[in-house]
Amino acid sequence: MTNKIAILPGDGIGPEIIAEAVKTLECLKQKFGFDAELESATFGGAGYDEFGHPLPDSTLALCKESDAILLGSVGGPKYDQLERDLRPERGLLGLRSKLELFSNLRPAILYPQLASASSLKAEIVSGLDIMIVRELTGGIYFGQPRGIRELDDGQRQGFNTLVYSENEIERIARSAFDIAMVRNKQLCSIDKANVLEVSELWREVVIRVGQDYPEVELSHMYVDNAAMQLVRDPKQFDVMVTTNLFGDILSDTAAMLTGSIGMLPSASLDKNGKGMYEPIHGSAPDIAGKGIANPLATILSVAMLLRYSLNQSELANHIESAVGNVLNQGFRTADIADGGNSVSTVEMGDAVVAALGAIS
Ligand code: NAD
Repeated sequence: MTNKIAILPGDGIGPEIIAEAVKTLECLKQKFGFDAELESATFGGAGYDEFGHPLPDSTLALCKESDAILLGSVGGPKYDQLERDLRPERGLLGLRSKLELFSNLRPAILYPQLASASSLKAEIVSGLDIMIVRELTGGIYFGQPRGIRELDDGQRQGFNTLVYSENEIERIARSAFDIAMVRNKQLCSIDKANVLEVSELWREVVIRVGQDYPEVELSHMYVDNAAMQLVRDPKQFDVMVTTNLFGDILSDTAAMLTGSIGMLPSASLDKNGKGMYEPIHGSAPDIAGKGIANPLATILSVAMLLRYSLNQSELANHIESAVGNVLNQGFRTADIADGGNSVSTVEMGDAVVAALGAIS
């Protein structure tokens, strides 16, 4: 059956890095007979430019009928003055909620070849391989009521609402336990149950779901301690599961442990495993158009797409080993070159395609 993949290049460096990821997909088609149809659509600022909305109807329709979505990145200074609902990031939130992509997988893996890029000592981070599972469609980013109101004394007050229902907690907990089962069977749930009622319920439901996964060792940690432990001894974690807001912050911290946000992919899945795949970084307006962006996070997002949505683990392994090989050969874009020689975005993409071609 032909797999349909929606390609959303987005803004800034998005089109540059997506072009390299598409090259790897085309290589998989030619070399390994991978059966896929790729169709592109505008999204984010580009969607606004073309259709007046960051999530055009035609783009949403394409995403709905596709088996998986590959996204570059969205946003940029050009769009910062738009009214909030028309900003590129709103398109992203809209797509996640319309497709019910509630489970955000954020791996933080430190390639041994790049150990010196981390700001932490090599012995603390070398061999790091953790997965943060972040709830993505609920919590304080979506809770109502929200807004800025004027108080009786004339002061303005900003307010947001943190809510989680039992079924929202249960489905993200199941997603995290399932992932722990195919990894090292350790799950740490992060909350703030000493202060927040929402966290009390979160903890209760996670424990209840855990009864269906007796092989998984479940632990709990307050978010402030988790932030501290991530930089003190990150290798103590296997899989972490947490809310939208806490996960946003902790996954960025974990990402920085690896030294380059240009290396890290992510996935956002619905309950059937359909997903959107994107690098964790943004549209990097400071380097857009210069041809120096690191395309590896996007190429590794293709590997996650193959593994989690298309059930093509072997092809995913091929991509990951091709990336390992180009790092072994010394290819580095500027962000991971540590002051040494660097290659362009296109040269890095070509190197991955050549490494894929060398796999027998
Ligand atoms: P950013 O991730 O775009 O950039 C942070 C720094 O990392 C910059 O110095 C940038 O040059 C560098 N960088 C990022 N990706 C890189 C890559 N592939 N190769 C080499 N260097 C890379 O974060 P920001 O500057 O805070 O945000 C810029 C824009 O991106 C904003 O409009 C923001 O809203 C948007 N954004 C989008 C997403 C997304 O599309 N999912 C995520 C985060 C931020």
